[in-house]
Amino acid sequence: METSAKEITCLDESPVAQQAARQEFLNRYYRAVVLIPAFVATVIGVKFFGENSSVTVYLILASLIFGLSALGYHLFLIITLRCPVCGWRYGRGSKCSSCGLPRHRPSSAVQDIVDWKL
Ligand SMILES: [Zn+2]
Repeated sequence: METSAKEITCLDESPVAQQAARQEFLNRYYRAVVLIPAFVATVIGVKFFGENSSVTVYLILASLIFGLSALGYHLFLIITLRCPVCGWRYGRGSKCSSCGLPRHRPSSAVQDIVDWKL
């Protein structure tokens, strides 16, 4: 534990950065993560095995189970991702819902302007 809470200026620098990155990815792309495998499974199943084939049904079921698992994992990340500064649930936004810790460091261009003004 070298980084104390005071040194953390954004979620990217905290020990939970990887978890936060996965949560943000799923937050942004969960529709694609769920729909693309289901769509691909449907197309492949219908094209190669026919609409009434049990293989098609299993392919679609597998893709739906995958999609539900992804959603479940997303929910798990939302619930378990804790803010490293205040210890409360971080939430889905770009800032901590209770203390306002930003998810990312402000982009360098913006930071340059801020530094220049100060
Ligand atoms: Zn916080």
